[in-house]
Amino acid sequence: MSNYKSGLDYALKQDQNDALKAYRNQFHIPKNKDGKDLIYMTGNSLGLQPKQTKAYVNQELEDWADFGVEGHFEAKNPWLRYHEFLTESMAKVVGAKPIEVIVMNTLTANLHFMMVSFYKPTKTRYKILIESDAFPSDKYAVESQLRHHGFDDKEGLILWKPRKDEDLLNYEDLESILEEHGNEIALIMIGGVNYYTGQFLDLKRITKLGHKHGCTVGFDCAHGAGNVQLNLHDSGADFAAWCTYKYLNSGPGSLAGCFVHERHAHRKDLNRFVGWWSHNKETRFNMRGEFDQLPGAEGWQLSNPPILSMAAIKASLDVFDDVGFEKLIIKSKKLTGYFEFLLNQLGEDTIKIITPRNPKERGCQLSIQVKNADKSLHAKLTEAGVISDWREPDVIRCAPVPFYNSFEDVYRLVDKLKDIIQE
Ligand SMILES: *Cc1c(COP(=O)(O)O)cnc(C)c1O
Repeated sequence: MSNYKSGLDYALKQDQNDALKAYRNQFHIPKNKDGKDLIYMTGNSLGLQPKQTKAYVNQELEDWADFGVEGHFEAKNPWLRYHEFLTESMAKVVGAKPIEVIVMNTLTANLHFMMVSFYKPTKTRYKILIESDAFPSDKYAVESQLRHHGFDDKEGLILWKPRKDEDLLNYEDLESILEEHGNEIALIMIGGVNYYTGQFLDLKRITKLGHKHGCTVGFDCAHGAGNVQLNLHDSGADFAAWCTYKYLNSGPGSLAGCFVHERHAHRKDLNRFVGWWSHNKETRFNMRGEFDQLPGAEGWQLSNPPILSMAAIKASLDVFDDVGFEKLIIKSKKLTGYFEFLLNQLGEDTIKIITPRNPKERGCQLSIQVKNADKSLHAKLTEAGVISDWREPDVIRCAPVPFYNSFEDVYRLVDKLKDIIQE
């Protein structure tokens, strides 16, 4: 992978030879006022719309128009079972078994529902461990769980921090925290890929460590799903949750995914909040019977889900199935490696990449610190037609997505960045 070359020619050639080049045309690429493609680097925030999404959503609108309530049975994709049409593809993307995966609710809601089942504090073991730079929603969620159970949200929260003057998390530090506090920690809940640094953590290693110390372990995979190979089943994690509007290209605020490990599939002893959609499908509409828990991740559903959102998810997952996730990852590594190569040429005294150098420890995102930069750099990039993402105090996050970003996009991005820096 070290035979990258500089120059636009090289980028154009890579695009020509790209086995996945046809996929860019299957997405709507946002354009500037003159109708030119913008350089869209924020698929980590909101993935672009597959062109086929509209037809999938329209299908459901038409079936609703044609059938009314009978659409639950008569629709082309009967609504009653619609979520089942997503499960297998979603399970493939996150490396899980179908019984372990469900599309439902939204991400933070799913984290809470998972904590109802997997955060079971006692008087002596009640603390929650998260990474110090967790996504705010996750931090607020665990703090509120601590308070909900009557604990202090500061004293009860243990933070896994990078070392002084470092950006990335270190497993030895996690080991020491667990050696010291393991028997006080009820739950470890970590972002599988850190939203800020782009560090892809070793889910299996963290899970093993956590379980050794008697903690339950869950992951927020918002920045992992559709971006890296999560292998959730093999990780052994108790649960995971992720949204579908980032790398899964399923539209703003679309429904989220949730994973519950197979070993919990038939447990009836776990606390949970339930509704009629957690109940046995065969007898759900008898309405008056005793509650009968559905097995597997499906058993954590509460409500009948929004079909229009699921149609957008189906449209996107069908593109994932079509390309095959392994091929996507191969291109992703190549494209991000190229991005890193070009950035390195700007010189270490100008920029610093805080994302791990090891391709196994990152997805497609690179988080870049530009020396002496402030937010005006980001504004200038935007003016130059680059959609990127600025995170205080001084980081630009760019995520070249293998589906729709090209080598040319990456070349032009770095070229513009160079012009702005040298101004
Ligand atoms: C994007 C993201 C969220 C957003 O949560 P919603 O409930 O979907 O609004 C939460 N956590 C992480 C780690 C994220 O990356």
